[in-house]
Amino acid sequence: MKKVGVLAVQGAFVEHEQRLAQLGVSTTELRQSSDISESLDGLILPGGESTVQSKLLRELNMFEPLRELIDSGLPVLGTCAGLILLAREIENDAVDGFASLPVRVQRNAYGRQLGSFHTVARLNSTDGSRDIPATFIRAPRIEALLDKEVQPLVELEDGTIAGVRYKNLIGLSFHPELDEDLSIYEQFLSYE
Ligand code: GLN
Repeated sequence: MKKVGVLAVQGAFVEHEQRLAQLGVSTTELRQSSDISESLDGLILPGGESTVQSKLLRELNMFEPLRELIDSGLPVLGTCAGLILLAREIENDAVDGFASLPVRVQRNAYGRQLGSFHTVARLNSTDGSRDIPATFIRAPRIEALLDKEVQPLVELEDGTIAGVRYKNLIGLSFHPELDEDLSIYEQFLSYE
C-alpha cells in the first residue's frame, strides 16, 4: 500500500499516522471532501466520538464519497468510534454511519469503572495467532456477527470478540495506535 487516507475531522488520528510511518507507509489527512480521491490505497477511521464524526462527515460532504470508497472494496481499518461508524447495527443509539460491516455493536459497553483499560488480546490471523496489547477507551462492544463471512480477528480471554475482519474491512473495539505493536497494521496493509 502506497498511500493511506486517515480521516482527520476529529479524534485520535495522528497516532495512526505515526504507526504507519513506522512501517514506511505514507498517509494523507482527510479533512474535507477534496482530500478524498480514488488514488488512496487504504482508509483509516480513527477513534473519537462517533456521533460528532458522523455529523461532521455530513456537514463537510465527506460521507457519500467515503461510503463509495468503503463499499468499492478499499481496505479499511476502523477503530473504536471508527468501528461504530462501520457497523450495520448499533444497539443503544442512533449513530448514522456507513452500515457496511455486518456486526451489531453497543456503544460505551465495557462498564463504568472499566471504561478504559489495557489488556492482552489474541490476534487470529491467517499466518497464525499471537498475543497483542489492546487499549480500550469507552469502547464499543461487538455483540453479534450478522454474516457468516465476518471473521473474529481479535478475541479477549473471556471470549469477547474485540476485532473482526469482513472482506476489505477490519473493525476493532480498541486502539492499536496507542501501543507499540504493529501487527494490526500489518494485517490491514496485507489485504489484497
Ligand atoms: N465512546 C465513543 C463513541 O461512542 C468511542 C470511544 C473511542 O473511540 N475511544 O463514539
